[in-house]
Amino acid sequence: MMSISEAMKPEMIGKTVQLHGWVYRIRSSGKLSFIILRDSTNIIQLLASADSLGSDAYRELSSLTVESSLEVTGTVRDDKRAVTGYEVAIKTYRIYQKNEMFPVSKDLGEEFKLDNRHLWLRSREFTAMLKVRSTVFKAFADFYYNENYYQVQAPMMVATATEGGSTLFKVPFFGEEVNLTQSSQFYLETFIFSLERVFTIAPSFRAEKSRTWRHLTEYWHAEMEAAWLNNEDMMKIEERMIEYIVEEVLRNNRPELELLKRDIGVLENIKVPFERIKYSELIKKAQDFGMNLKYGDDLGADEERGIMNHFQKPVFITDYPTSLKAFYHRQNPENPSEILCHDLLAPEGYGEIIGGGERIWEYDELVRRIKESGMNPDDYYWYVDLRKYGSVPHSGFGLGLDRLVMWILHLPDIKEAIPYPRTIRRTKP
Ligand code: ATP
Ligand code: MG
Repeated sequence: MMSISEAMKPEMIGKTVQLHGWVYRIRSSGKLSFIILRDSTNIIQLLASADSLGSDAYRELSSLTVESSLEVTGTVRDDKRAVTGYEVAIKTYRIYQKNEMFPVSKDLGEEFKLDNRHLWLRSREFTAMLKVRSTVFKAFADFYYNENYYQVQAPMMVATATEGGSTLFKVPFFGEEVNLTQSSQFYLETFIFSLERVFTIAPSFRAEKSRTWRHLTEYWHAEMEAAWLNNEDMMKIEERMIEYIVEEVLRNNRPELELLKRDIGVLENIKVPFERIKYSELIKKAQDFGMNLKYGDDLGADEERGIMNHFQKPVFITDYPTSLKAFYHRQNPENPSEILCHDLLAPEGYGEIIGGGERIWEYDELVRRIKESGMNPDDYYWYVDLRKYGSVPHSGFGLGLDRLVMWILHLPDIKEAIPYPRTIRRTKP
């Protein structure tokens, strides 16, 4: 047995191969049938000939429907007219299932394709996305392993909120309630006192009530925390990490990028350093772009899209006003109205893919900020404890992997970057 891409090699010409897969397309004329077979690696043309197979076998093969599953043996030849340049003339075959008409195709509506994601994910476009997504997840982990970080795991069922109560999911828990985690950050902070540098890849859950093209209610969050590093150190490591992930996609996924018609030039240009712009300067720039924004305004999906349509490389936005971000961000000691943080905005209109920065590491400051945010420090006792015993300056970030895939592939909506999207209106399939 062999994969299609293994069979499509000059040295295989004239050899007999055994292939497995699904019918991608089929066309018959007279005594010849051309079956395009698909497996996880590629597609290839199979030739069924009535003369060499006999009329019963020919009838059976030429009546196959799209997505029927089969196994064939046959001889490889090169054929310029075939869809991928090779053809296998069928000698023997076994049909596993001949199915009814496959219900999903490219031109059907978006909602219909979402209802049938379990079937649509076989499409060549979606398969290409899944392969790139696989590279992105691996590259993120590899990058941090190469930097001597440890991978750790945090609980998904938690008692605390990191990003505020309005996007919390509550679930019943033996007569009480717990929250689904909005971020693993606070737990990662606990690990730095033993491991110093850690990362995790896990889902985060946010009850996003407004539907946007970049919000899911369950998304894949790559997060890291490191002792002794500051905001500037974070940005340096993040830009190298993004550069590395994009390089890995370019190295491993050329065919997928081409199939999805991604502008490869844009990706090849994603090189460090990325520009750093202070929030206050960005507001001025946005005004120059003709946008109606003033200092203190939060940047949502639309604002960031308006701004990032003007950029071809990611940009760090730093020094946000304290009022715009969660309590754990460290204020600038020289200007407490701003925090030592950054968001990384993806170009071509995509906007935020990373939020990060320095965490408050001094006890009094943390307790004060928790209270100022209207919360009770007792609820965060373990997080506060970290500031009592050997506290150290530290920083971290969270990266939305689905958003990163969406930008790398220039997809129109985050639902196209994850196999089974969860939104306010969608829990199936
Ligand atoms: P936004 O302003 O877009 O809602 P956020 O400020 O709430 O984002 P953070 O809390 O900083 O985001 O989360 C870190 C990262 O997680 C974000 O930069 C983004 O890439 C990703 N992220 C956040 N919320 C979502 C979501 N609902 N769906 C997908 N990814 C998300
Ligand atoms: Mg949000």
